[in-house]
Amino acid sequence: MAGIAGLNKKLNKLYGGRIRAENGDGYLRLTGALSEWNDIVRAGLLSAKYTKRGVVNDIVFTGAAIPPARLPPLSDLSLEGLRPDVLIIGGGVVGCAIAREPMRYKLDILLVEKEHDLAMHASGRNDGMVHPGIDLKAGQIKKKYNDRGNRMYPRLCRELGVQFRYTGQYVCFTNGWMKGVALLSLLYWKFMNIPAEYLGRRKLLEREPRLAGDVSCALCFPTAGVICPYGLTIALAENAASNGARISLDTAVTGMELENSKIVSVQTNRGKVYPRLVINAAGVFSEDIARMAKDRYFSIHPRKGTNMILDKKAAKEVWTIVSPLNIADVVKAHSKGGGIIHTVDDNLLVGPDAVETYERENFATARESVKRTLAKQRATVPGIGERDIITYFTGIRAATFEEDFYISFGRSTENIIHAAGIQSPGITAAPAIAGDVSAWAAKYLGAKANAAFDPIRKPIVRTAELPPDERDSLIRKDPDYGEIVCRCEEISRGEVRDALRRSVPCDTLDGVKRRVRPGMGRCQGGFCGPLVTRIIAEELNIPLEAVRKSSLDSRILLGDTKSAGVSV
Ligand SMILES: Cc1cc2nc3c(=O)[nH]c(=O)nc-3n(C[C@H](O)[C@H](O)[C@H](O)COP(=O)(O)OP(=O)(O)OC[C@H]3O[C@@H](n4cnc5c(N)ncnc54)[C@H](O)[C@@H]3O)c2cc1C
Repeated sequence: MAGIAGLNKKLNKLYGGRIRAENGDGYLRLTGALSEWNDIVRAGLLSAKYTKRGVVNDIVFTGAAIPPARLPPLSDLSLEGLRPDVLIIGGGVVGCAIAREPMRYKLDILLVEKEHDLAMHASGRNDGMVHPGIDLKAGQIKKKYNDRGNRMYPRLCRELGVQFRYTGQYVCFTNGWMKGVALLSLLYWKFMNIPAEYLGRRKLLEREPRLAGDVSCALCFPTAGVICPYGLTIALAENAASNGARISLDTAVTGMELENSKIVSVQTNRGKVYPRLVINAAGVFSEDIARMAKDRYFSIHPRKGTNMILDKKAAKEVWTIVSPLNIADVVKAHSKGGGIIHTVDDNLLVGPDAVETYERENFATARESVKRTLAKQRATVPGIGERDIITYFTGIRAATFEEDFYISFGRSTENIIHAAGIQSPGITAAPAIAGDVSAWAAKYLGAKANAAFDPIRKPIVRTAELPPDERDSLIRKDPDYGEIVCRCEEISRGEVRDALRRSVPCDTLDGVKRRVRPGMGRCQGGFCGPLVTRIIAEELNIPLEAVRKSSLDSRILLGDTKSAGVSV
């Protein structure tokens, strides 16, 4: 085949014969050995341009040992022998959206997540932007799901009681001569059916008054929105659980048995289960799941992104979503270039960048990422600075070499659906992906509609946001809502208690933080941490020392400092 010969010629030239491409059955396989991870990524991305098939990476990376998946530190038989209709692997936004949708059918659903809580990987470490789809190309799978998913947000969030708003995204152009480029690109986006509006500097400053002096104009994309991504993920799972889905945390899939091209059993650290259908929503580990299922037609190259959260004092610097236009980012780094986002919780979020990595769970934040990202975004909004940063975090995208989602029934194995390669805009796309995947699952399993499905989830009341008279009467009924434990975010004891009594279990300091926000403010839990720890211990009737920060092995308190003293 001319294509693969040409590719091998190019790979030879670039890597001196150390790697080769060959055609597999329905995929293109790369083999050989390289010591630089970025070379492997470049080879994969290059190969994807030469084929319409998926690129499967079997190049041995000799530069370092790729760490295996972290497994939960427990083992029991609590799931042994279960026979769910559907086993969903992964409790990110995609897995949780998929867990909720099939509850519209009479199906027995089990979702397993290897971490101690939901949304611990990409779904809890992103920008929370509902994308208008401006960087996506016609024909991409991610475009189809992004556009559909975006439109589903208002209704979905109403049903789940999750905050969401269309803020609009302002892509800013500097220098006068860029106006022509802005007007030309406006035509392009209109042609792509993406609502867009041109704003000259005067009009733009009416909406975003603190932009840099050299911002000459912007394109506004009104269908861009903001959401709390881990809040959404947890809400999806809670609604699925209230409708009967079983969510099993600290549960990792470690192997599968197949017979006649069908998965017959799935091994976990909590026993062997026998699902009729498996759904792979394992993020950066989705390739490992595909390998276990003998159905590997794609490879993942993880890509890190770092974000900063700024103090609410800086919130007035940006009211919407503001980003600089950087064509090089979109084309070369497969990133949207980042921006500054006014979140649903009234913080500014700044970032992210895009750095390739072979470590799929190393969420450490590099100082240079913070510095570089802040400097880049300050060029558009000079009023933000390092002193405003209250925290930062890093997430890892699960990119394929095709830079597209891989959403498909198994090709070699009959009873698996992959929802893999879900990099950005996976938050935006998740509701639409879930719609399709659950319809396929219902058809495959011959499931009937479930008239009892209730799409409504009652959110935890946010006392500080209630009108004074409602707050008053709530506190009169239950004084716990009047006892403030987190002063930065104004969170009451009642709200913390509510977070511990939901349909998906929560028993950690970080779990409470992600549900009702104590510890999210300027002091980052310095004041409320000990109080929340005590409420968790009291509510769950466990010793203070048994309360964990995030995972089963993240201890907070080791014991009394003095023999007769108290722990906190
Ligand atoms: C920095 C950054 C910014 C982003 N910004 C945006 C944005 O603004 N808007 C947007 O739409 N998208 C954004 N994205 C993309 C979005 O976050 C992801 O596409 C989405 O979260 C992917 O969800 P997921 O459920 O597929 O994967 P994950 O959230 O990664 O979930 C996969 C889960 O599977 C679990 N798992 C893995 N292996 C196993 C196993 N063997 N057994 C059991 N469980 C397992 C993992 O623990 C993990 O929890 C961003 C991503 C990053 C990193």
